[in-house]
Amino acid sequence: MKPKLKEREARYVMQTYRRAEVQFVRGEGATLFDEDGREYLDLLSGISVTSLGHCAPELTEAIRAQAVELLHVSNLFYTEPMVDLAERLSTRSIGGPVFFCNSGTEANECAIKVARKHAHGRGIDSPRILVFEGDFHGRSYGALSATPGLARSEALGPMLPGFEPVAFDDPAALEAAFGDDVAAIFMETIQGEGGVYPVSEETLLTARRLCDEHGALLMFDEVQTGVGRTGSLWSYEQTAVRPDVLTTAKALGGGVAIGACINSGQTGQVLEPGDHGSTFAGGPLAAGVALAVLDRVDTPDTLRRVRELGSTLHDSLLALDGVAEVRSRGLMIGVGLEDGIVASEASAALLEAGFVVNAPRPDTLRLLPPFTLTDNQADRAISAISEVLGARIPSAADPITGGDPA
Ligand SMILES: *Cc1c(COP(=O)(O)O)cnc(C)c1O
Repeated sequence: MKPKLKEREARYVMQTYRRAEVQFVRGEGATLFDEDGREYLDLLSGISVTSLGHCAPELTEAIRAQAVELLHVSNLFYTEPMVDLAERLSTRSIGGPVFFCNSGTEANECAIKVARKHAHGRGIDSPRILVFEGDFHGRSYGALSATPGLARSEALGPMLPGFEPVAFDDPAALEAAFGDDVAAIFMETIQGEGGVYPVSEETLLTARRLCDEHGALLMFDEVQTGVGRTGSLWSYEQTAVRPDVLTTAKALGGGVAIGACINSGQTGQVLEPGDHGSTFAGGPLAAGVALAVLDRVDTPDTLRRVRELGSTLHDSLLALDGVAEVRSRGLMIGVGLEDGIVASEASAALLEAGFVVNAPRPDTLRLLPPFTLTDNQADRAISAISEVLGARIPSAADPITGGDPA
């Protein structure tokens, strides 16, 4: 990597990220190229964003077509791509109107606003929103306050009041925390940043029942799980439970920033003119690209491929030495490593070998490969992971690490 780039980044870019030592300059399908022309297999998709691979021709064409037509006019006027996209998202999920924004965080801000105003409408003065330990909802103050692991940072405080953390995936804890002042349960259906932990059906059913009994809203953050990642357009479709509010972003624009807060009929009219807004949101470029993404993703063939490839990868990973468990839905895959293997070291070794994989937890590798990954690329990924994990397992004969003789 150019040493100058690293120096200039350190000097001119706020140091809020720890970046891997690689500079990518080009991408094609599941392949990334660094500035020396070296190839990498991308098994992360920019954190579940470029699900159709890099520079997918349909998306490039949608961007080009919209760029020469109309980029932006603001939400003071009507534009058709936005309305087309809203109709598409609504009819393919929970049926109510959509609010557009530019990120997952913002989609969640909208959901929080809907929940609070909905609760005030029910006469609740001080609404509580229940959130799960280990969940991630974003970095602005609303989303941050809804993210228990980050909301405890005193340096960034004070947080927004009204968010109450509940033990992850524990129906009894949810029941105990519930009350008439609860505006909503706000949750990821599968923890993504937390390390790929799906919520059990029992917890989902309990959450739905509690919300129904008390008139509260069940709100799913599908920013990472949505738009086909788990093998259905939304992950909740593989469960018995439907949310009242659904947030999406990441893969929706295939790499162009867009987010959406999708409502049910019940919540769609809660926010009124003046209650919420965003300058860029739902602009023709982002909406046009999102429509092209849905054209490709929301088809039986693509979704079946995600499920089948996901299940193949799941089984292959589970069979590897060094793997303790695999938690997956479709192509959202968490690989729990055996004790003694450090995920960040494995991920660094994989990068060195030309494979992009990340480590959301010290004991977990996360794979979010593009849906276009070929069987051959999947085989290469498994071999590379096998090799890296194999090299990191202390062997029984190793005199330094000891180990019980087999
Ligand atoms: C990434 C993510 C967010 C935040 O999305 P941004 O686009 O980074 O603001 C929120 N919720 C979940 C579940 C996410 O994975």
